[in-house]
Amino acid sequence: MTEPSAPPAADTIAAIATPSGRGAVGVIRVSGSNVPAMIERIVGRTLAPRSATLATFLGPHGEALDQGLALYFPAPHSYTGEAVLELHGHGGAAVLQLVLARCIEVGARLARPGEFTLRAFLNGKLDLAQAESVADLIDAATATAARAAARSLSGAFSREVRALTEALIELRMFTEATLDFPDEDLDFLRAADARGKLEAIRTRVSGVLARAKQGALLREGLTIVLVGRPNVGKSSLLNQLAGDAVAIVTPIAGTTRDAVQSQVEVSGIPLTIVDTAGLRPSDDPIETLGMARTRAAIERADLALVLIDAAAGDALTEADETILAELPAALRRIIVHNKIDLAGLTAKVEGRAATKEGRSAVVRHVFLSAKNGDGIDLLRREILDVAGAHEDMEGTYLARERHLLALRDASTHLAAAAQHLDDVKPPLEFFAEELRLAQNALAAIVGEFSSDDLLGAIFSRFCIGK
Ligand code: GDP
Repeated sequence: MTEPSAPPAADTIAAIATPSGRGAVGVIRVSGSNVPAMIERIVGRTLAPRSATLATFLGPHGEALDQGLALYFPAPHSYTGEAVLELHGHGGAAVLQLVLARCIEVGARLARPGEFTLRAFLNGKLDLAQAESVADLIDAATATAARAAARSLSGAFSREVRALTEALIELRMFTEATLDFPDEDLDFLRAADARGKLEAIRTRVSGVLARAKQGALLREGLTIVLVGRPNVGKSSLLNQLAGDAVAIVTPIAGTTRDAVQSQVEVSGIPLTIVDTAGLRPSDDPIETLGMARTRAAIERADLALVLIDAAAGDALTEADETILAELPAALRRIIVHNKIDLAGLTAKVEGRAATKEGRSAVVRHVFLSAKNGDGIDLLRREILDVAGAHEDMEGTYLARERHLLALRDASTHLAAAAQHLDDVKPPLEFFAEELRLAQNALAAIVGEFSSDDLLGAIFSRFCIGK
């Protein structure tokens, strides 16, 4: 294990840990070796470890800056593993600044974003995947995403990765032992059931990867483009998808400007819905700016929902075709036939053959009513299907792209290892090397091999005070 370089002799850091603005309580957090000496100067007394003490927070001349609870966590039993002081005062911007300034004056410096969690990682309190899940939990946009992040934070994902690593280490031990006795290569590995063990590991890696993919979906969400002429029922559909919980602002042409993106949630997956109603010729510079944002969102979109009026037949209007032609060719689409209540149709899903760029493909057509909700569940299921999502997101980890890449990397090396075993006379060194590389990829997930660059990239995205 390579140690990530330690911070310069753990100087003492301080930050306001609660969001800015008015609040009942505001928390200042201080961590580092100066903390024990600072306590006396800030609260004018010693503090019993880990108990909440009502105290006056003192300024440089002994004047009261605030009054609240002071908590002292001696090292190493704290979030960061260092001595930590928490001051729970009143949640006002000015008063918190005064107390923070006092902490700086008596021996702390301002913390950088994520620095508390970085220290927790460097001191072995959390592994890297857990540290990332702290930020993901704070950023989680849906309850399902929050639960998945909490699961990663509790170490469920890390434990799975570590168990895989251990199984790999065992196989590597057999392999390395065999390398010492070159004449017995095959027999030795056969006796150890190298193939069986390798296949078992590959199956588990695939399983973890599949769940991590679901988790990445929970974290990243999907971007969906809504296409359809005015009055076809786009806002109504948005409201149906959002359910009762979320109020959606109905965009009114020309007045919406930037309000062309809405957030809704389907089975815990955050969906960003981009309304192409915002895409129309305009001289208004602000509206033009909004359109540039819409177009950027469309470039990143995962799916287009094309709404047509079932009562008016199956055809797309010319305006719809124009917008569709502008969408990225590879963008998947679902045709939504809305207003089936008026057309006298029942809710259903149909796959219809369509030709796209000369190739035939099956396009899904969903018949529904955005007014009474008939068929909305069918559409939800189709959306999840296109995304490759399961309806049951429980048990997933809130994985990041970094984790998926590492798991895919491990998977590739394991496949290569299997290939070496298939060769008539296996070059055992190659087999061993692939196993080593697979293990490294897994170790990177929990941060056993991590560069300063990677740590910088991960922790700089945290909020200050975390
Ligand atoms: P948008 O302009 O595409 O956003 O369309 P709206 O959602 O504002 O809908 C336009 C009108 O069609 C409203 O009066 C809706 O109540 C109505 N409408 C939308 N969906 C349906 C539907 O499925 N059935 C019926 N009968 N009316 C609908």
